[in-house]
Amino acid sequence: MPYISPNLRLLFSPLKPTLSSPLFISIPNPKPSSLFTLLASSSSSKRPRSVPYRDSLNLRRRNSSTFSERKGRGREVAMEETAEESRGSSSSSFGFNKRRAEGQDKSDRPKKNPQLKERKLNPTNTIAYVQILGTGMDTQDTSPSILLFFDKQRFIFNAGEGLQRFCTEHKIKLSKIDHIFLSRVCSETAGGLPGLLLTLAGMGEEGYSVKIWGPSDLDFLVGAMKSFIPHATMVHTQSFGPALTSDAAATVPAPNKASDRIVLVKDEVVKISAVLLHPHCSGQSQIKPGEMSVVYICELPELMGKFDPKKAAALGLKAGPKYSELQHGKSVKSDRLDIMVHPSDVMGPSVPGPIVFLVDCPTESHVQELLSIECLSEYYTDVSSQLTESTKVVNCVIHLSPASVVSSPNYQKWIKKFGSAQHIMAGHEKKNLEVPILKSSARIAARLNYLCPQFFPAPGFWSLQHLNYSASDALASCEGLTSKICESISAENLLKFTLRPYAHLGLDRSHIPTLIDQSQVIDELHSEIPEIADAAEQVRHFWHGIKESREVLTPSKDDRVMIEEPWLTENTLPSCLENIRRDDLEIVLLGTGSSQPSKYRNVSSVHINLYSKGSLLLDCGEGTLGQLKRRYGVDGADNAIRNLKCVWISHIHADHHTGLARVLALRRDLLRGVPHEPLLVIGPRQLKRFLDAYQRLEDLDMQFLDCRSTTEASWDAFESNKESNNDGSSQKSPIHLNVNNESMQDINGTLFSRGSQMQSYWRKPGSPVDHSAAYPFLKSLKKVLGEAGLEALISFPVVHCPQAFGIVLKAAERVNSVGKVIPGWKIVYSGDTRPCPELVDASRGATVLIHEATFEDGLVEEAIARNHSTTKEAIEVGNSAGAYRIILTHFSQRYPKIPVFDETHMHKTCIAFDMMSINIADLPVLPKVLPYLKLLFRNEMLVDESDDVIDSLGVAS
Ligand SMILES: [Zn+2]
Ligand SMILES: [Zn+2]
Repeated sequence: MPYISPNLRLLFSPLKPTLSSPLFISIPNPKPSSLFTLLASSSSSKRPRSVPYRDSLNLRRRNSSTFSERKGRGREVAMEETAEESRGSSSSSFGFNKRRAEGQDKSDRPKKNPQLKERKLNPTNTIAYVQILGTGMDTQDTSPSILLFFDKQRFIFNAGEGLQRFCTEHKIKLSKIDHIFLSRVCSETAGGLPGLLLTLAGMGEEGYSVKIWGPSDLDFLVGAMKSFIPHATMVHTQSFGPALTSDAAATVPAPNKASDRIVLVKDEVVKISAVLLHPHCSGQSQIKPGEMSVVYICELPELMGKFDPKKAAALGLKAGPKYSELQHGKSVKSDRLDIMVHPSDVMGPSVPGPIVFLVDCPTESHVQELLSIECLSEYYTDVSSQLTESTKVVNCVIHLSPASVVSSPNYQKWIKKFGSAQHIMAGHEKKNLEVPILKSSARIAARLNYLCPQFFPAPGFWSLQHLNYSASDALASCEGLTSKICESISAENLLKFTLRPYAHLGLDRSHIPTLIDQSQVIDELHSEIPEIADAAEQVRHFWHGIKESREVLTPSKDDRVMIEEPWLTENTLPSCLENIRRDDLEIVLLGTGSSQPSKYRNVSSVHINLYSKGSLLLDCGEGTLGQLKRRYGVDGADNAIRNLKCVWISHIHADHHTGLARVLALRRDLLRGVPHEPLLVIGPRQLKRFLDAYQRLEDLDMQFLDCRSTTEASWDAFESNKESNNDGSSQKSPIHLNVNNESMQDINGTLFSRGSQMQSYWRKPGSPVDHSAAYPFLKSLKKVLGEAGLEALISFPVVHCPQAFGIVLKAAERVNSVGKVIPGWKIVYSGDTRPCPELVDASRGATVLIHEATFEDGLVEEAIARNHSTTKEAIEVGNSAGAYRIILTHFSQRYPKIPVFDETHMHKTCIAFDMMSINIADLPVLPKVLPYLKLLFRNEMLVDESDDVIDSLGVAS
């Protein structure tokens, strides 16, 4: 059977297509063992459990509704709150949680007043080590973290973006962390901190607590985070060093003295102290915020030797209290002989306490300072230093300094002062690039790439040839240099340096993950799902289909007719896609999970790639930069950042914006010395508060525009103001949402219950304010949009939390070769929301609706309580708005790999995966791929109900 275009099929087939035969159209010759049977079996919930990906009681098969029962009391309270809205409304109406929408949702706050943990410590019988967390390709320019581990105490140094994901992947329990130390305060070292604090707060049952330490700049960061993190989660922050204000930077304190060393933690098992480093400056210069860095010194106490009872007896001692006095270092009188017995007479040799240095020296100017710090001289053991009784031997030095600094002669000189210490180079370097640090997500990316490279062009693994080494990456040579004198190695993920037991002192490579490569992953896939090769072949045919049928696919004359019959529109090409070019638009779903970064799904971000016309980011959760690198490669990601036209943030929840500072900071660095405009960031009011406070620490080179200033009403006001000022532009606003009374009545009559309180509520955020102050920014936004080939960017209020928005992006019209005007495409992104009339209205005739679908259909109460949508609700919104394609995203992290969904209504819908890249020319094919994606995960349709995941739902998302 030859390929039949979807249009023709509609003509020939008298039957309404249903999704039970989604493959009918395009599989030329289904083989006996075709996907039909496979898919039928994979959708059955009674399937025997096979090959669970994780052996845990916490994982269950889908289709249970024990969720709300498990949550216990907290859940009930939430339900009560929503009862009022739900009462009396028909099943077709959408309730919502008014309290949450108004920002009074108590569940966002930690459950208890957090107390610092009290733990009984044992200095002798403990295991202790330092370990490298997260270094390699994915974290290219994010500082790795260092874990200092003791049985009953955990310390983490630095918390860059992606730390949570890394720890989940490697089963490192962050809930056990007691202290976090920052070696500098910037997005590079602390980008993961807000998300981490919120996750820890979500685990609040047993009185979580973490103390955060950093140089005085930390106060700026804490001040900024207060705008979206409950104060109670940050009570234990402690900065040290000279106080700074951003307006008048503090003067450099007096030259370094021994007293400059600040002891931060001192207990039975460890002493941690800090030495501040600032750029070396002559005379009365000033330190600016963000310039301070820290050398941390971790010292374990000396252990007394073992008490030898035989020796004690020989010296005439009876067993008793005197034994213990000796063990505590006291001399005692012998019972039988007339002598004094000293501890050294009966104790074995004592074991020196290991010492670890963590050094972050960001510039050469800091190195000069490093060389002159007197209080460090007691740790220098090189020949030129004067060795004394008090000289302490450093066992391990972990260098967080960048490669360019490490290779400088002064730094090398400093390194040599440590004699035989083991040096671990953990600063930036383009090594380990073939090793994805998040193996599980790389594995899924590789599988998706195998099945459908068109929608998943990034295979999760790279080869070195994609990279251009730059001169600054000279670590390899500097490593050689160092190793001539002392032990020096490059950091690897999970590399350990053991401190206790003393017998094992030294490097431990046994935890470094083994290498896997792409071909291994694919071999594994073949043996697990043998049909996958055929499936991939069939998927490939969809694209042949597109090319061959391009002539046949003619756009409908009138979109309105199609909206009446949603099943007709699914295969009728909207007129805006006529002769569309592949370099017009690509939608990249960078993060598709809610709440917190997880093993397989990062948090929200959509990259709108307009190719030569630049790009936009819609939301920018933690790790967005890392995801861009995984998608486009290191250099490609740099280009994407350089070419950003604007960033739009939907609302203030941490899963939507905590990656913003890192992206803006990188853009600032990349464009240094290049003429450019500050980047426009459009976001909710609270985001401005955060960014203003944050910029006292680190300039982000941006301009802020409130979402409320980009509503349709605000644009209208802006345009009419322009007209009345007669400033030369008399053209009418090109921006029109399809609002008319008829459609509003339509919505109210069908989707939403009449007179619902919701409607009066959700209009609030859009209520008129004086936006004239925003006009200069709107003007620059309009210019930027014009350059990007966009006609409109319109924010509209949605029902989620205060100041939550969705967005409409509309491309400008084009004229084809014969002079015909072709309308521009329209993309709508829902942000986080309950279904609401404003969203349906904004989505009218959308080419693509990207809609959140946090919960499965069975969890509608949960969706109402948290003001999110279910899969079905999201699809209903898209259907009633006549959207051509619907992409579902923002899935609860309880669905580790693939969410629960009912295929029956998904004939124009697809679910998103991280890094999914949808070229606008491929939109017709999009829904057809869905059953194949399901095949890929047929053995892994599990729901993660482990406590971590459930608890994390307490985090506002
Ligand atoms: Zn969210
Ligand atoms: Zn949210």
